[in-house]
Amino acid sequence: MTTETRDIVVVGGGTAGCFAAATAAQEGLDVTLLERKSEDDGGHIACGDAIKGKSTFPDVIDREYLRQESFTNENIQRALFINPKGTNYDIPFKDGSGAVVDRKRYGEVLLEETERVGAEVQYNTVIKDVVQNGTVQGVRGVQNGTHVEYEADVVIDAAGSLSLLQDKVDFDGTNYDTNVTYQQFCSAYREIIETPEPVEYDDAIVFKPTEELGYLWYFPRTKTEINAGLGFQMNKPPMELVSVLKRDLENQPELEGAKVKDKLGAALPTRRPYDSAVAPGFMSVGDAAGHVNPTTGGGIPGAAKAGHWAAKVATEAISDGDVGEAALWEYNHRVQTDFGQRFAAMDLYNIFGSAHDVDELTNVVTALPGEMLIDLMGKKGAVSMSLPEKVKAAVVTAFRTRGHWGTLREAYEVNKLAAQLKEIYDEYPTTPSAFESWQARRDELMEEVYAVTGADPKY
Ligand SMILES: Cc1cc2nc3c(=O)[nH]c(=O)nc-3n(C[C@H](O)[C@H](O)[C@H](O)COP(=O)(O)OP(=O)(O)OC[C@H]3O[C@@H](n4cnc5c(N)ncnc54)[C@H](O)[C@@H]3O)c2cc1C
Repeated sequence: MTTETRDIVVVGGGTAGCFAAATAAQEGLDVTLLERKSEDDGGHIACGDAIKGKSTFPDVIDREYLRQESFTNENIQRALFINPKGTNYDIPFKDGSGAVVDRKRYGEVLLEETERVGAEVQYNTVIKDVVQNGTVQGVRGVQNGTHVEYEADVVIDAAGSLSLLQDKVDFDGTNYDTNVTYQQFCSAYREIIETPEPVEYDDAIVFKPTEELGYLWYFPRTKTEINAGLGFQMNKPPMELVSVLKRDLENQPELEGAKVKDKLGAALPTRRPYDSAVAPGFMSVGDAAGHVNPTTGGGIPGAAKAGHWAAKVATEAISDGDVGEAALWEYNHRVQTDFGQRFAAMDLYNIFGSAHDVDELTNVVTALPGEMLIDLMGKKGAVSMSLPEKVKAAVVTAFRTRGHWGTLREAYEVNKLAAQLKEIYDEYPTTPSAFESWQARRDELMEEVYAVTGADPKY
């Protein structure tokens, strides 16, 4: 067995791992990224391929090169929600256009850039264990068939959903979040299809509800190349993802004769971010720390930011000669007071949804006037209506939603609790010593959420 020594070792060469390793290299540290896949397969990751835009990425790689190479459709102007029971909802993006990428090329460029800025990337390296003596001090695995050990001041766990490393670390005596079960995850599957004719919705990301609190999506990489996929929450009965997608594809006249170019499935977290993702010598980033919007499944921007912030904080801790939990805590604070509070608030809608069946939710949605729904979703809507229009909308809503008032009342209450939860996350403690009392405050609010929605406790 060979033993190597580095300042930082990053496990996993996805978005989070690449941004972590690139940042550490830019900071002048000796860093190695270990990826289980081969170089040819690097970057081949199951995804819907939709991202908000290059502005969301930290400035540690050549973002323009990434855009040119992999952003195949930069003209996503709206989200189109197909309502199987009535009017569809078309929601324009107010903060500029989004993009759909060629995910394999995107992943390849990230790995390429990570190496170019000075990190070492080792492929064909499957990490199977951690080296720990109180503090995590490295990892062990198999590289091209040979046993290897890497010692490091800090190990960054970027190994994705349900990361194996977390089963190996002894978190006793730390605040690391171990309240993680597979029921807080979603199982998802996607195909890349090539259509003979251009689709009409090449400026939109298209969603459709499915059973078990999931949705089906059609995201156009180009006018003729579509990422089509779906998922279901793992606290619900399993769904036959491949056959449900096949049926839906067959029912779309415009997709007749389409060819499947690639198929891939994976689990993704649909839960709040880990309450704490640090332990002595150890930090988790991206999917490995639940950094995904639990209602949309969008995880790329969060993974990029988390990887960047973790490496920044680790660099400082290493230079101070202290990689203990308190020294790494600033990373938790950064995440929770940024996208963490938004994702934790979105999680309440996921919990609310889990207590109702999709049919019921679709009925409520169908009963609401489109403008009001858009307004509820925080985009432009009622605010832009004139007073007579608002009065008319209120009267129409009252008539059409008869029989759903209980559910609407609940949605209203959840909305209020989500705003309160954000405030609690804004006050996420700056040190581990205040963590327990913060958690107690947050859990008190969660009790109210379960009481209002009747949902089973998720955590
Ligand atoms: C079907 C699907 C659709 C999605 N759609 C979207 C979308 O449209 N937009 C969006 O923003 N997000 C989407 N997401 C979520 C997004 O893909 C993830 O949040 C994001 O990729 C997380 O990046 P990551 O680096 O944390 O993890 P990953 O991208 O999963 O990377 C983890 C890496 O670690 C490696 N690895 C794992 N274990 C080991 C080990 N033991 N040793 C060595 N290497 C290891 C893996 O091979 C992999 O390369 C989707 C996810 C799925 C599953």
